[in-house]
Amino acid sequence: MRRRWERGKVFRSVLPHFEYVRPRSVKDAIRILARYRGEAALLAGGTDLVVRMKMDRAAPRAIVDIKRLAPLGGPVKPSGRSAIAIPPLTTLAEIASSALLKRRLPVLPATALLMASPQVRNRATVGGNLANAAPSADMAPPLMALGARVRIHTRGGVKTIPLEQFFTGPGETVLGVTGILGTITVPLLPRGARASYQAYTVREAMDLSIASAAVRVQKKAGKVVSACIVLGAVAPTPLRVPEAEEALTGTRGTAGDIDAAAEAASRASMPITDVRATEGYRRDIVRVVVRRALSEVLS
Ligand SMILES: Cc1cc2nc3c(=O)[nH]c(=O)nc-3n(C[C@H](O)[C@H](O)[C@H](O)COP(=O)(O)OP(=O)(O)OC[C@H]3O[C@@H](n4cnc5c(N)ncnc54)[C@H](O)[C@@H]3O)c2cc1C
Repeated sequence: MRRRWERGKVFRSVLPHFEYVRPRSVKDAIRILARYRGEAALLAGGTDLVVRMKMDRAAPRAIVDIKRLAPLGGPVKPSGRSAIAIPPLTTLAEIASSALLKRRLPVLPATALLMASPQVRNRATVGGNLANAAPSADMAPPLMALGARVRIHTRGGVKTIPLEQFFTGPGETVLGVTGILGTITVPLLPRGARASYQAYTVREAMDLSIASAAVRVQKKAGKVVSACIVLGAVAPTPLRVPEAEEALTGTRGTAGDIDAAAEAASRASMPITDVRATEGYRRDIVRVVVRRALSEVLS
């Protein structure tokens, strides 16, 4: 750390020159992105983008500020009778305090509260967290486990896809150069279903997950009838693990059943060794976070 600081490479105090553009509509924003052919970046809360620019990891020629685009903002609200619509510009603080989410999908406010600090949560958006596509992004696993669908605005029009199909690699999504992430629609939990998100970090706050797990499990007449288990930070993208879901489905969800699912999830994970943890340690932690999440929903 000292050596990096001595070389003056930790943070820039002055950002390189860029154009600042505030589009009047989503279509306008897409047109501008197309004009810059991959050399423009959308700005929502800026808590990922500006840090990357300061660390010389991003140098867009233009910054396209989408914060005031009405179709991407507004309140978290019901979508029909069986889902909740979350606009992409919703901040993590708004997710944490949403009375509707606390009542109907409490795993989402609980996840937002685990993330960053109050100052960062006041600016950081859920859309930015997903579009940035860090393998450790905390909102991705619970939204995927809940079966969220996302609206994508493209030059060809608007389409809706399962969040499961959104991520294509670390820092990469189906949005490509000109796509914009729109509303995230999350189905309500069916009767008998519960969800949990567990992340393991070395420090209690302001730290990236070593590994994380989100689960949604539905029980009927004492048996698990459906399960969705998604891992974070142990693969290039958030990873759904059907092997673990199958290990649990049809069982009574006993401690032994939970252990079998956690073992299957650990085997299916694809972690890497980096400065923060080894591959083997991450696999061990997958076992721990899956066990914790399943124990919470099956207790
Ligand atoms: C101190 C600190 C702590 C943090 N802690 C956590 C943490 O605990 N967990 C965690 O997961 N993250 C954490 N982060 C990362 C960051 O805060 C989150 O990922 C945040 O949600 C990003 O949202 P944003 O609105 O600030 O994104 P921005 O920085 O504005 O954008 C991020 C990327 O997404 C693109 N983008 C934004 N919105 C859209 C859209 N609607 N459509 C298409 N592309 C879009 C931008 O062009 C950019 O490339 C932390 C960051 C900091 C600085």
